[in-house]
Amino acid sequence: MTVLAPQLNLIAGEHSPAASGLTLDVLDPSDGSPLTTLPRSDARDVDAAVAAARGAFRGAWGRCTATERGRVLSRLAALILQHHAELAELESRDTGKPIAQARVDINACARYFEYYGGAADKLHGESIPYAAGSTVIAMRVPHGVTGHIIPWNYPAQIFGRTVGGALAAGNACVVKPAEDACLTPLRISALALEAGLPPGALNVVCGLGAEAGAALAGHPGINHLSFTGSPGTGTAVSQAAAVNHVPVTLELGGKSPQLLFADADLEAALPVVVNAIVQNAGQTCAAGSRVLIERSIYPQVVARLVERFAALTTGRGLDGPDCGPLISRRQLHRVQEKVATAGSLGAQVLAQGRLRDDAPAGGFWFPPMLMGNVDPASALAQEEVFGPVLAAFAFDGEDEAAELANATPYGLTAAVWTRDGGRALRLAQRIEAGQVFVNNYGAGGGIELPFGGMKHSGHGREKAFEGLRSFTTIKTIAIQHG
Ligand code: NAD
Repeated sequence: MTVLAPQLNLIAGEHSPAASGLTLDVLDPSDGSPLTTLPRSDARDVDAAVAAARGAFRGAWGRCTATERGRVLSRLAALILQHHAELAELESRDTGKPIAQARVDINACARYFEYYGGAADKLHGESIPYAAGSTVIAMRVPHGVTGHIIPWNYPAQIFGRTVGGALAAGNACVVKPAEDACLTPLRISALALEAGLPPGALNVVCGLGAEAGAALAGHPGINHLSFTGSPGTGTAVSQAAAVNHVPVTLELGGKSPQLLFADADLEAALPVVVNAIVQNAGQTCAAGSRVLIERSIYPQVVARLVERFAALTTGRGLDGPDCGPLISRRQLHRVQEKVATAGSLGAQVLAQGRLRDDAPAGGFWFPPMLMGNVDPASALAQEEVFGPVLAAFAFDGEDEAAELANATPYGLTAAVWTRDGGRALRLAQRIEAGQVFVNNYGAGGGIELPFGGMKHSGHGREKAFEGLRSFTTIKTIAIQHG
C-alpha cells in the first residue's frame, strides 16, 4: 500500500510541523508497515493552538450568530459526505477497521455536524421569576476555549461528537487526537476551513499523550476539557485540569453486559450480541463484552454463539472481513496477555474465528474469541480487554442477572433481551449504566441519544442536546427595572 504524505498540525488555519521539528511514525495495523508520520508536538504547539483559539473566540468566530455557526457546520457535514469514499478509506487504513464499519463511522461523523449545525440556534436559556420589578435571564453561553482529547478507536466519530457540540455552542476548540490513529480528524479539520470556519476556531495538535496531551489538559488558557479514553488517563487528565479549575467531561471505558433471558427472541438477539463485540475488533468503549445468559438456555445459546464465532473472518479492513486487526502491537500483546491470564485461572476458549488466507503477515491479528467458565471476580470479567473477546456467564433469575450486570466498576451501556415488558423495565431501572437498551443494542451509535457513563465509565454527557448543553455554562443577568 502507498505511504501517505507526512501529516501536519492545524493551528490558526495554517498547516504546520511541530515546533520541535520531531515526528512520530504511524503504522498500518494490517501489516505493520509505515503509513505516515505525525508532528510530535509539545507545550509550545499547544500554547500556539490555545492562543489561536482564544483569538478566534474573541474575534470572527465569537462574533458569528448561532445561525451562522449552524450554517458552517451544516456545510461541513455536506463536505464530509462529498468526501465520504476518501474519508472511509482513510479511516479503514488508519484504524484497521473493516471498510463497511468505516463508512458507517464517516456517516456518523457527518451526522454529528448536521445535527449540531441544526441545533446551534435552538439552544437557549430561560427567564426566572424573581423579585418584584425585576427580570432575570439565565443565558447559555459558551465556555470559551475548549480542549478535546480523543482516542484512536473511532477518530472520525468521536471528533464529530465532541467538536460538533462545542463549535455549535460557540466555543473555539483545540483537539489532541490519538497518536495511533488521527488521519480523519486532520482531513475533516481542513474541510472545516473550506466550509467557512474562521481560522483558529478549530485547531488540531498531534503528538503523544504524555507531551501534547498533558500540556493541553493542564493548560491555564482552556475553559473546558472533554476527554475520551481510558480510565487511568482520565484520572491524570482530571487532576491536571483541576489545578486550573477547568470542568471536565470524562467518557471512559466499559464492561457492558448483554442480558439474555429464556423468553428472548434469540434470532434477533444473537447477531447483535456477536456484532457488539466484533465491531471494531472489540476496541469500542461500549463493546458488549459480557453476555449473561439465563441458565436454562445457556447450553443452547453457547452452542449457537460457538457456531457464529467459528465462522467469523479476520483480515485487512479494506478487504471486507468481519473483523480487522487490533490497532497496534502493544494492544495485541495486552489482549493476548489478558486472555492467557484468564486461561490460567480456568477460563476456557469456546470458539475463535479464523484469519483469512489473504491477511498480510505482520498485521496485529486477534480473531474474535468466545470464552466460558469465567470467574466473575477475575480480570477478564471485571476489566476492559479492548479486543474481540466475549465472556459468557450463566444466571438464575432477575436478581442474579442485575447483580452480575452491576458487578464491575463500570457503568457505560447494557442491553436486556426479553419479551417480558415488566422485567425489561425493572432491569433497565436497576442496571447502573448511562444507556440501557431493550431488545436492541447500539454500541456507540445514536447521535440523538445522550451518552456517557456512571461509576468508572466517567461523568458528563455527550451526543444529543445534552451534549450541546455540556459545552455551555450559565450566565445569570438580574435586572431591577422597577
Ligand atoms: P488513552 O487514555 O491511552 O488515550 C486517549 C487519549 O489520551 C489519546 O489522545 C492519548 O494521546 C491521550 N493521553 C494519554 N496520556 C495522556 C496524558 N497523560 N495527558 C493527556 N492526554 C493523554 O486511551 P486509548 O487507549 O487511546 O483509548 C481506549 C480507551 O478509550 C478505552 O478505555 C475505551 O473504553 C475508551 N473510550 C471511551 C469512549 C467513550 O465515549 N466512553 C469512546 C472510545 C474509547
